[in-house]
Amino acid sequence: MNSKRMQNLHPYVPGEQPKDRKYIKLNANENPYPPCPEVISAVTGFVSGSPEKLGLYPDPDSLALHEAIAGMLNRTGGVLCRAVSGGKQCRPADEDKIPFTVTPDMIYSGNGSDEVLSFVFYAFFDSDCRLVVPEFSYSFYPVYGGFYNIPLDPVKLNRDWTLDTAEMTAHEKRNRSGIIFANPNAPTGRGISRSQVREMLLNTHSDKVFVVDEAYVDFGGESCIPLLAEFPNLLIVRTFSKSLCSAGMRLGYIVASPELVRTVTTVKNSLNHFPIDAVAQVAGTAACSNDGYYADCARKIVSEREKFSTFLTHHGWNVIPSQTNFVFVKKNGIRGDEAYTRIKEQGILVRHFATKGIEEYLRITIGTEEQMQKLSSAMECI
Ligand SMILES: *Cc1c(COP(=O)(O)O)cnc(C)c1O
Repeated sequence: MNSKRMQNLHPYVPGEQPKDRKYIKLNANENPYPPCPEVISAVTGFVSGSPEKLGLYPDPDSLALHEAIAGMLNRTGGVLCRAVSGGKQCRPADEDKIPFTVTPDMIYSGNGSDEVLSFVFYAFFDSDCRLVVPEFSYSFYPVYGGFYNIPLDPVKLNRDWTLDTAEMTAHEKRNRSGIIFANPNAPTGRGISRSQVREMLLNTHSDKVFVVDEAYVDFGGESCIPLLAEFPNLLIVRTFSKSLCSAGMRLGYIVASPELVRTVTTVKNSLNHFPIDAVAQVAGTAACSNDGYYADCARKIVSEREKFSTFLTHHGWNVIPSQTNFVFVKKNGIRGDEAYTRIKEQGILVRHFATKGIEEYLRITIGTEEQMQKLSSAMECI
């Protein structure tokens, strides 16, 4: 009964989403804090103030949302944990200042960055050359590779789990295929600097799209948005799911040249031209207008991450230095799946990947101070 293309599908397996609430959930890199109060009042105001709008199609171009996203990027420099907040809105740290103004025509938004990434794969990568990806990175890339019949060329990471930028560049030069990676990367938590990405851009094919997935950059990475002034083939993907406390909202976006944005919009308009519902548009717009709140949340998470990393190191765990809202850790003498089970028995869910090469490790999301205290006691005696 099934089509032939069904045979090529290898669906993504998300972190467990338990129906009962008995677990502390630190397995999907969600943000432990709620959206800011302004989001709640914008959503309730929209639903009760103009319920008839729920019966109408939303703005297909999400214009207000794109203006709000561009404004937030200009005010934060694209890295919330370093942005200087004086109340509701921020100004960028000196090292994050963007040397031009991000405009709404440089933004494309979709139903979570997973959908955005799917359109990016469709729009820019072909089945006749192998797309360069890191060996260990976001596990949705191979899923989309399979879905769109785009072969991948995975490049090994360095021994310290950073990207091997020279090797990735060399592969792209050979394949003439484009490149995609997360920076900071998942599940390792390690990032590379903007100048390293610039070096890669100088040494890869400028007629192919170069994708940087910045899902975690707000927790301490360096954003590549400033490089857009120099490289029209650079495309940056970002999400509301991690630093903007809105995984349930399903909002992700692209920052790129207006030309690349138009290409992705063409793909969207050939499939589903209303990807973002009216409520999500209202919520997302309100979130971006209150970047100060999210900058504070990001800083709390960074400070918990550092405390937790130090704690684990003192208790014999090997902790890979992280620039994200999670840590990638292992302990000699205990298997990853065993550690996972022992922690689950204490009522806490973390993430273990059975993938060969990272099977000794756990990926643990940073939660609130209280959650991390419980987790620390659970891991202390493993
Ligand atoms: C979480 C994550 C995403 C997906 O985010 P959504 O916007 O929730 O779809 C994309 N890329 C990476 C690297 C992620 O970790």
